Amino acid sequence: MECIFCNIKEGKAEAEIIFEDDHILAFLDIQPINYGHTLVIPKKHYDNFLTVPRDELNKLTHATQFIAGIIKRTLNAEGFNVISNNGDPAGQSVFHFHYHIIPRFKNDFSLRPAVKNYKEGAMKEYGEQIRSFISKYKDIYNG
Ligand code: AMP
Ligand code: ZN
Repeated sequence: MECIFCNIKEGKAEAEIIFEDDHILAFLDIQPINYGHTLVIPKKHYDNFLTVPRDELNKLTHATQFIAGIIKRTLNAEGFNVISNNGDPAGQSVFHFHYHIIPRFKNDFSLRPAVKNYKEGAMKEYGEQIRSFISKYKDIYNG
């Protein structure tokens, strides 16, 4: 399947590349939320956060931390968001996993959606449901 980020990695599509090594590539988002908004991708194609192997994710996260620090200093940003959208309802539009690094400035905009409140006992129920799955699948975590 055609993937714009694979095309960028292969040099078949243009991008403003700011950093790369053997495993990762970082380039400017073509429609930035703030100027300097950067995407960090693994060079290998993985659809989303859940399908990136652990060692690749470690390298990608390490690079994202490095680049976020550089962007913050270069642009004199007061903060930044590191986010990844996974799945269509979460806003993912390119299905090649990537972190967004978005430089932030005081009073620029709000990324905070309306929040919910748990009904009496519901928080515990959610906790129990999630913990019971964790106990079934913790071999994956340990493995
Ligand atoms: P997401 O919606 O989280 O999957 O993020 C995909 C991001 O890729 C969006 O913010 C797009 O603006 C960005 N994007 C799409 N095509 C390109 C491209 N050719 N070069 C740089 N950024 C792109
Ligand atoms: Zn790809």
